Amino acid sequence: MQGEPVCGVCNDEFREGESARRLPCYHIFHPECVDAWLTRKTARCPLCKTNCTPKSTMDESTLI
Ligand SMILES: [Zn+2]
Ligand SMILES: [Zn+2]
Repeated sequence: MQGEPVCGVCNDEFREGESARRLPCYHIFHPECVDAWLTRKTARCPLCKTNCTPKSTMDESTLI
């Protein structure tokens, strides 16, 4: 699906200037969404299951 990027956890769109976290697989999520997912569920991307340890994603914040 092309177009507006959406968070893979909550399926909400990102707003301009909002921070997003990109995992090594290039999927992007809201930092609060993916942090909760990675710490409470599993250290894998919610979409493609790529292994993403919370540590390696902590400083991967980007602005859209
Ligand atoms: Zn989200
Ligand atoms: Zn992914």
